[in-house]
Amino acid sequence: MWRIRWLLRRLEQPSPVLIWSATAAGLLVQLAVFVGIAFDTYRSTLNSSFAVADNIAALIEQDISRNIELYDLSLQAVAAKIHDAEVMALPARVRLLAVFDRSTNAAGLGAMVVLDKNGSIVLDSLSEIPRAGNFSDREYFKFQRDTPHPNGLYISTPFQARLQDGTWSISVSRRLSAPDGSFAGIVSGTLKLDFLRERLESAALGRRGAATVFRDDGLVLVQNTPGNPNVGQDWSRAGVVKRSRGGQDGTFTSEGSIDGIARLFSYKFVSGFPLIVAAGVSRDDVLEPWWFKIRLIAAVFMAMVISVVVLVAMFNRELRRRITAERGQAALARQDKLSQLANRRGFDEALSKDWRRATRSQQPLTLVMIDVDHFKQFNDRYGHLEGDKVLAAIGAAIRGAARRPSDVAARYGGEEFAVLLPNTGADGAMRVAETIRASVQALAMPHERSSHSVVTVSLGAATVVPSKDMAEKTLVENADRALYAAKAGGRNKACFDNVAMISDAARFRA
Ligand code: GH3
Ligand code: MG
Ligand code: MG
Repeated sequence: MWRIRWLLRRLEQPSPVLIWSATAAGLLVQLAVFVGIAFDTYRSTLNSSFAVADNIAALIEQDISRNIELYDLSLQAVAAKIHDAEVMALPARVRLLAVFDRSTNAAGLGAMVVLDKNGSIVLDSLSEIPRAGNFSDREYFKFQRDTPHPNGLYISTPFQARLQDGTWSISVSRRLSAPDGSFAGIVSGTLKLDFLRERLESAALGRRGAATVFRDDGLVLVQNTPGNPNVGQDWSRAGVVKRSRGGQDGTFTSEGSIDGIARLFSYKFVSGFPLIVAAGVSRDDVLEPWWFKIRLIAAVFMAMVISVVVLVAMFNRELRRRITAERGQAALARQDKLSQLANRRGFDEALSKDWRRATRSQQPLTLVMIDVDHFKQFNDRYGHLEGDKVLAAIGAAIRGAARRPSDVAARYGGEEFAVLLPNTGADGAMRVAETIRASVQALAMPHERSSHSVVTVSLGAATVVPSKDMAEKTLVENADRALYAAKAGGRNKACFDNVAMISDAARFRA
C-alpha cells in the first residue's frame, strides 16, 4: 500500500530521472513493436516470394510441357505414317506433306528427320530430297539403338546441330521398330536452345532471377543466362536435383554458391517428360521494397525519437528551473534573514520531521534553547540596530557550533534561538550548548548593563527518545525549563533538563 502511495507521490512531483525512465520505456516499447512488425513483414515477404517463384515455375513447366508434347505428337504421327506403305509410295513432295505436319515448322524447332537403323537420313522435314547425313555417332541415336526403354521417347543431351549451322539444340526422338520388334531407326526433331532460353527469359523472375531446365538425371538443358554457359553440365549433385529425387515438387533457399546471389527457388517436374524446371527469385530483389519501407519507417521512428528526446530535455530543463526556483523560495520562506538561520516555520517543520524519525528509529533527539541575557537592557542602551547586529553575530556563533548536516539551528523568535540535534544524547547536547555559550562570550560584544559586561546567552537543553504517546511540545517544554534554570542560576550558563547545571562561566573559565 505504502508503495502505491510512494509511486503516486513520485508521479505528482516527477523527477528528471523518472521522466527520462518513462520516456525510455515508452520508446523501447515502440521500438519492440517496430522490430516485431519489421520481422513479421520480412517473413510474409519471403513467404509470398516463394509463391511468386512457384507460380513462375508452374508457368514455365506448362509452357515447356505443351511445346514438347506437341512436338512428340508430331513424332508419333511420323512414326505411324512411315509404316504406311501407301504413304511411302507417294511422290517425294506429297509424301513430305503427308508425313510431316505443319507444326514441325513452328518457331524454335529445327529439322525433323527419320533415320534408318544405320543412322542415315531417310526422310527430312526440310527437304524433299533428304539431305545427306549420318547421325549414328549421335548420343541420342546410340541410346535409342542400344537402350531398350518402354516409353520410346528420349530427350538428348545438348549438341550443335549439323543440319542447323551448329545451333545449340536438343533432340526429342522416338524409336522406330521393325515388325519383328527389332531396331529400325529413329524419328528425331530438334529444339533450339535459344528458343527455350527466350521462353525462360520471358518469365517475370526479376533482375537477378534464375530459371533452369534439367533432365531428371541432373543434366542442364537450358538456363535463362545468355550464352547458356552451363549447358550440358552434370548437376546431379546440385541441391535441387538431390531434392527432386523424392519425386515431389518443392521449394528451397539457395545461398548462391555459384554466383553469390541468394535465391528462393521452386522446382517442378514437367508433366509427361523426364524434365525438371527450377525457378528462383533473388532474395535481395524480393526484399528491396521491404527494405525501402523499413528504412522509411526507421527514419520516421528516429525523427520521432529525436523530437521526443529534445522535447523531454526541454521539459526537464524547465522543470529543473522551476524546482530550483521553488526550492529557493521554499528555503527563503523557512529562513530568517537577520540570523541566516531557519525561522520559526522551518524549525517547526524540522522538529516534526525529526520527532517522527526519532520515534521510528528510537534514537535520542536533543533540543537546545538559547536566550540572550538582558537583551532588553542592551537595546535600551545601544539601540535596536546594534541589537540586531548582536543577534546576527549570535546566529553565526550558533551555526559554527551545530555542524552536523542533520543539525537544525533556528531563530525561535525575538532574541531566542533553538538548535535541534538528531541522534544526539545528553553528552553531545552539553558539548554543543557549552560551545555556543563560550563562543558568544568570546565575541566580547560590550554590554555595560550586564554583570558580565559582555553579551552572553543562557541555554537550556533537553533530550528525549520519543515514544508514540509523547507530544512534540514536551521536548520544548523540557528545554524551556532548563533554560529557566540557567537564567535563575545567574545567566551565561547552560543547563540540562532535570540535571544539575552542567556548566557555568566560572567553571569553564577555570
Ligand atoms: P532575560 O535575561 O531575562 O532574557 O532578559 P531580557 O531583557 O533579554 O528579556 P525580555 O524577554 O524581557 O526581553 C527581550 C527583548 O529582546 C525585548 C526586545 O527588545 C528584544 N528583542 C526581541 N526581538 C528583537 C529583535 O529582533 N531585534 C532587537 N534589536 N531586539 C529584539
Ligand atoms: Mg526572551
Ligand atoms: Mg533574554
